[in-house]
Amino acid sequence: MPAAKWWGWGYEGVEFSDEDKPELAPFIADSIGVDVRRKVAAPARFEKLDIPDSRLPPGLRLALEQAVQTPYVSTDRLDRVIHARGKSLRDLIRQRRGEFARLPDVVVRPAGEEEVAATVQAALQADAVVIPFGGGSSISGSLEAPADETRPVISVDLERLDQVLDIDASSRLARVQAGVFGPRLEEQLTALGYTFGHFPDSFAHSTLGGWIATRSSGMQSDRYGDIADMVKGLRVVTPSGTLVIRPVPATSTGPSVRQMVLGSEGRLGIITEATVHVRRIPTQRKILGYLFPAFADGLAAMRDLAASEYSVSVTRVSDPNETQFSFAMRVSPTLADKAQSAALKAYLARRLGFDVSKMCLAFIGYEGSDRHVASQRRSVGRLVKRHGGLCIGSGPGALYDQKKFDIPYIRDFLLDRGAPGDVSETATTWSNLMPLYDAVTTAANGAFADLGVQGYLMCHLSHSYHAGACLYFTFAFGASGQDEMLGEYEVVKSAIQQAFVDNGATLSHHHAVGTEHAGKHLNPGKIV
Ligand SMILES: Cc1cc2nc3c(=O)[nH]c(=O)nc-3n(C[C@H](O)[C@H](O)[C@H](O)COP(=O)(O)OP(=O)(O)OC[C@H]3O[C@@H](n4cnc5c(N)ncnc54)[C@H](O)[C@@H]3O)c2cc1C
Repeated sequence: MPAAKWWGWGYEGVEFSDEDKPELAPFIADSIGVDVRRKVAAPARFEKLDIPDSRLPPGLRLALEQAVQTPYVSTDRLDRVIHARGKSLRDLIRQRRGEFARLPDVVVRPAGEEEVAATVQAALQADAVVIPFGGGSSISGSLEAPADETRPVISVDLERLDQVLDIDASSRLARVQAGVFGPRLEEQLTALGYTFGHFPDSFAHSTLGGWIATRSSGMQSDRYGDIADMVKGLRVVTPSGTLVIRPVPATSTGPSVRQMVLGSEGRLGIITEATVHVRRIPTQRKILGYLFPAFADGLAAMRDLAASEYSVSVTRVSDPNETQFSFAMRVSPTLADKAQSAALKAYLARRLGFDVSKMCLAFIGYEGSDRHVASQRRSVGRLVKRHGGLCIGSGPGALYDQKKFDIPYIRDFLLDRGAPGDVSETATTWSNLMPLYDAVTTAANGAFADLGVQGYLMCHLSHSYHAGACLYFTFAFGASGQDEMLGEYEVVKSAIQQAFVDNGATLSHHHAVGTEHAGKHLNPGKIV
């Protein structure tokens, strides 16, 4: 496996590039005033870093070596740096600068539940801190020990717990070890004809245990549900023993312990195993692209879709700003593509009355038998049309599907050019989506203006429910300078999060709370 980056997203050697996207550089210059040809920063060189020494007491090392065997107890500097934090923008900025506060003293890799339990017991005996580590893709600051932590800090990496243990075919439930990464999980299930169907954008670099501990959502949640719907049984090693939650389809036994573990962010114990829903691999899977005249039309169409009898797997509508960004990301359009897109724009403007600067790109996903997909496409097509929308075929959807796991690399590309970019996501009711969208837009633009920076905010709806949906905001700006970057990021991020809180939405729909969203900059009276 290629080495993971200690300073950025994904693997060493894999990077985002604008070279094959001719419209991106002018778009970035125009929207945040940044010239992508000018690199102004780079991650520090690893050899030059001032890495605090491990403070692992010899007695604890011995106990950990007995728990998991010597090769799986690591005080290696790179290992400790990689396990120090997740991938929030705050994490990336500080890692790139080589600013380390409290690194773990040791990284331990148990092979199974017994070794996890032995590790926890060794930690208890030594009054040490245990931080479970899945893929390290946390965006909420929940992997880092406090700077003033004086006890030994143990990062427990679950990567060796990566097996699908068995499948109960008649109940469509699989027993799976919690350290399995997305691709390895799907690979094992595919071999047996099943899929889990949980595809967060961080799929390649996150694990089942991490998804459970953060109440994650994948792009196909409209069909498969959020992780909280998909997990039935759990095994959790806690300081006082192993908690076993049996896999039953439903229960009326009082407040739900299962729900307490979901979203517990490593605070209750280490999840070692989960029993989860699996489904047969569908015959057909298709994502179609649509255009709507305005964001409100797209939201109304998704609301009606959620209220209808139709079943789709993906619902996503970008606002005009995100639509323009998506067009700017197009890979070297051929002359034919350009002619086609000019003809489409002319058709939309003249025949359908679209203002092309306000139009919104949407995706709707379909899964199932050929017949089911064909009938759903027809019915949903009629619904979309009632909201002024137009189907533009499977090309844009297929491209989005292929590229979605590459997009996260863009944050490192922007940081190299002095531009922080990050996300904030929430959920609210259908009736409150547009007011919330307007409030967040005002708040973010107000923050950019107060800072005197050129910023860009874009948004999409994803994950539709009976009562409402998730709104996912992405922002970027040209920072005043390297030293100001983190402070400026905090101003923008807090303005957006405060707007969620003040306007009846949740702090986070699927990124969890951690320290990043815990509300330290927010008015606590209004947090929901
Ligand atoms: C670019 C990017 C894109 C993202 N896209 C999505 C998305 O589409 N959907 C989404 O839901 N999230 C997304 N995230 C957020 C992140 O990937 C999720 O929070 C994910 O669920 C974390 O899983 P992980 O295995 O990486 O956990 P980690 O980051 O290792 O840990 C996260 C938290 O869970 C705890 N934890 C991990 N494993 C266990 C365990 N076995 N037992 C107990 N506690 C544990 C950790 O202690 C920590 O508190 C994204 C993040 C990034 C950076």
